Amino acid sequence: MTIDLEALYIDLHRHPELSFQETRTAGVITRELAALGLEYVEGLGKTGVATSIVNPSTGSGGAGEGPVVWLRADMDGLPVGELTGLEYASTARGTDPAGNDVPVMHACGHDMHVTALLGALERLVATKDQWSGTVVAVFQPAEEYGAGSQAMIADGVLDRFPKPDIVLGQHLTPLPAGIIGVRPGTQMAASDGLTVKLLGRGGHGSRPHATIDPVVMAAATVMRLQTVVSREIDPREMAVVTVGSIHAGLKNNIIPADATLELSLRYPDDDARADVMARVERIVRAEAAASGAEESPVITVDHSLPPTINDPAATARLTSAFERAFGEGAVVDPGMFTGSEDVSWFARESGVPLVFWFWGGHDPQAYADAVAGGTVNVDVPTNHSPYFAPILHPTIERGVETLVVAAREFLAEESHGEADA
Ligand SMILES: [Zn+2]
Ligand SMILES: [Zn+2]
Repeated sequence: MTIDLEALYIDLHRHPELSFQETRTAGVITRELAALGLEYVEGLGKTGVATSIVNPSTGSGGAGEGPVVWLRADMDGLPVGELTGLEYASTARGTDPAGNDVPVMHACGHDMHVTALLGALERLVATKDQWSGTVVAVFQPAEEYGAGSQAMIADGVLDRFPKPDIVLGQHLTPLPAGIIGVRPGTQMAASDGLTVKLLGRGGHGSRPHATIDPVVMAAATVMRLQTVVSREIDPREMAVVTVGSIHAGLKNNIIPADATLELSLRYPDDDARADVMARVERIVRAEAAASGAEESPVITVDHSLPPTINDPAATARLTSAFERAFGEGAVVDPGMFTGSEDVSWFARESGVPLVFWFWGGHDPQAYADAVAGGTVNVDVPTNHSPYFAPILHPTIERGVETLVVAAREFLAEESHGEADA
């Protein structure tokens, strides 16, 4: 029996589900795993699924699990109304956490991630005589919340399955189909969401001298925070400090008691994170002190995504393997992405290397035309766009092959002996 991957992808694309609501998707996954004869654990991190293929080496007398390679795919869709016009476009709707009825679309390609991982598992099962070791496949919910991997870890996925020697994952991107993008070091930025509550003293708008005005405090804080990146960070380094939300007061003649800012911070690594966090906190507290605040501001980290850092040695090894499999020029350095991912928690919690790569899904001729016309940003829809529409082939096949090539590189081959990952 062979999985019809095109039909599987179209089915998943037609039925996207919001983060932590991927119950139908999990059902499709477990149905396919059962058909492959694989046992699985479901309900990990609410809707996640994990399975393993334990394939002891015949040369080692069948003892031990060999190299343990984790392959991860995320499952969730987004509250986006699909405008691709595809015959199999999503018309699904869902309920977001605030209770709103919203359109739902696989606008980030997670349907392709699931399809590719199921296809890779099928291939790895069929070729068990050619490799030894253990493959753990993780179908993760709620990547778009940055919460799914931690939810699976909290549910014990690292204890219930053999611990990884390496964690591998991939993401669909609008590179030309067939092209792989990967770089050593930081592949995706770290990101924190902060809420800052500035505490003043409210009163009558006609008597400012009797108050501590949090509106002025907030204004000064927002302006001073702009100097973190412009005046304090080495211009050769990347950092973002965005104040995306500011709320205070209800009426022109009332000075409110407090003001709330919401910040989005981005940086390439843990050192830069600590550095920017410290500078933001210093400015927030100092501006409050400068305003004569009687209480220090309350700073809350609402969510925190680590940087996605590719292990340099494993990335070099994988790049060579991809070039051997797909030819010179098939692998490009896509640069660092300022978006963030939660895949690296699996590797960080285990203290093992991670490689996370991108693979293209855009029509190569259309991409080349857009490059020639200087219209890539206009004509090539990115992830999260309502027009995001990967071509089916060779995107599906390449997504399967990349996972198989990558897994096999770090699993043991009879001719290679033990992988050294
Ligand atoms: Zn996304
Ligand atoms: Zn995504």
